[in-house]
Amino acid sequence: MKPAGQKIMHGVGASPGIAIGHALHVGRHPVQVVYRHLEDAAGRRDEIERFDAAVRATREHLTQVRDDLHGPMTDYSYVIEAHLMILSDKMISQRTVDIIREQSINAEWALNQAVSEAASFFDHIQDEYIRARFADVEYVTDLILRHLVGATSTALDQLEGKGVVVAHDLSPADTTSMDLDWVMGFVTDMGGPTSHTAIMAQAKAIPAVVGLRRVTAEINSGDLVIVDGSAGVVVINPDEDTLHDYRDRQEAYTLYAQEILTKAHLPADTADNHRVDVGANIELAEEVSTVLTYGAESIGLYRTEFFYITQKTRPNEDELFLNFKMVAERLEGRPVTIRTLDIGGDKFLSDVGLPEEINPALGLRGIRFCLKERELFKEQLRAVLRASAFGRVRVMFPLISGVDELLQAKEVLEEARVELEERGAAYDPEMEVGIMIEVPSAVAVADLLADHVDFFSIGTNDLIQYSLAIDRVNEQVAHLYQPMHPAVLRMIQQTVAAGHQAGIPVAMCGEMAGDPAAVPLLLGLGLDHLSMNALAIPRVKQMVRRTSRELWTALAAEALGFATATQVIEFVHRELAKQFPDLLPLGGDPAGDEA
Ligand code: PEP
Ligand code: MG
Repeated sequence: MKPAGQKIMHGVGASPGIAIGHALHVGRHPVQVVYRHLEDAAGRRDEIERFDAAVRATREHLTQVRDDLHGPMTDYSYVIEAHLMILSDKMISQRTVDIIREQSINAEWALNQAVSEAASFFDHIQDEYIRARFADVEYVTDLILRHLVGATSTALDQLEGKGVVVAHDLSPADTTSMDLDWVMGFVTDMGGPTSHTAIMAQAKAIPAVVGLRRVTAEINSGDLVIVDGSAGVVVINPDEDTLHDYRDRQEAYTLYAQEILTKAHLPADTADNHRVDVGANIELAEEVSTVLTYGAESIGLYRTEFFYITQKTRPNEDELFLNFKMVAERLEGRPVTIRTLDIGGDKFLSDVGLPEEINPALGLRGIRFCLKERELFKEQLRAVLRASAFGRVRVMFPLISGVDELLQAKEVLEEARVELEERGAAYDPEMEVGIMIEVPSAVAVADLLADHVDFFSIGTNDLIQYSLAIDRVNEQVAHLYQPMHPAVLRMIQQTVAAGHQAGIPVAMCGEMAGDPAAVPLLLGLGLDHLSMNALAIPRVKQMVRRTSRELWTALAAEALGFATATQVIEFVHRELAKQFPDLLPLGGDPAGDEA
């Protein structure tokens, strides 16, 4: 019988592997603030002193976090620098002091009022990028508040020993300000499998389970927690048997991961000598060496928005150029597909926590944002073009919904080219131009789009979200997010057919491309390249090596005949289990998923 303490919760497996460690609660729930009226000048003086002390403590705290960054995490120090600048900004610190003086109210209440004023100021800023920086203001003021009320639970200050981070939600700003070396696993109430936080966890090989809804209420700091990121299971205070079982699974997973890593650098050649190009998706230029270790043969998607997010100020053309050039050079002749800024959706907007943005995924994101902010877009394109003189650089536009948008984007690219010509700057005149196919309308007109580009890359994360009407970051509907849905398979088939008809290659860079169980089917649907989270590469390559063109073509033909996602999944798993009984479970790891 299980002791009363053990509790099992099911969520969404967002990053594979097993972590066993003690919970570190990083509460980001608002601190409760009470109103207090100050009686006299002495009361106001004391209150200002108390506030100044909290600001000083916050500064010391942030400085310490910055100074403690080491290894690759030092690249993120500018995130902390930005927080320190906000702390010194008059808008928050001086304004709070003024409010205490003018209104004789306590520091917490005055600080909240200063933040509200700042919020309405930010609300009126046209520039979405700058408006989005309000998240940092909120973050810093939350830290000051916690110092004021003596609640030390924050995303930053708890990582003093290794542990499993338990949070309601984690923004990209949270994860970049953490020393991830100390994080054994992530569990969160919110989030879906393809939210960008999940993608960051995968990139850092940290097991994660998201979308657990009430996990912050169930776990206390210090509880022993098992995070099974492969199966989407969290066990709180496991009993001896469960713990023992998971330790075995963890060991098996580690051995398995090491084993496949030793073959990662070998090409993915099928039994019938067909080579598949397996590439990696990256969020930061610094990831290049890691993805090469995992066997990437190209970078099929560089999500450039993270460079913008992590910079103290918006990067200028030269900074962007140096960043892209560094990636191109580090790849030593391997191609890199640089995707232009894809701001919006769950990048920035949910991060800022703006409930007013009711439909961020349908709002001003991706190419729409760039076509509105033409100069910013052109600046990025000039940087990409200049980098193309230093390696095999391709450019890709996100969220294209039709030919009009594509032609407008290409017009800006042309203007960027002309400007570089005038400057006499070097660039590759043959640089390939492609688009992401991630909006259902783009699938419908893929034949028309194909006439204007050199390649397609299918972004299933968004294509599934938009075609099945499933918010990719909403855990309530995560179970309806079905890559194997017949509608999705047909859209992939249709895109491939349109691309091939026009003689251009079709890649996939959505998360689906990194699922080993989906790979034979995708290759059978005719995809030419697969690009994925680097961690998935060794397993995908292993799967390719075991299959043949004959097998995957037959598999795809039959899979297209089913009416439901469940039927497709059952069929694919059954077929693959027949072919490769030793590769079970097909989720990709031997640790099992039957918790
Ligand atoms: C996608 O939508 O599948 C994709 C790869 O882009 P992102 O996840 O950055 O939106
Ligand atoms: Mg996308």
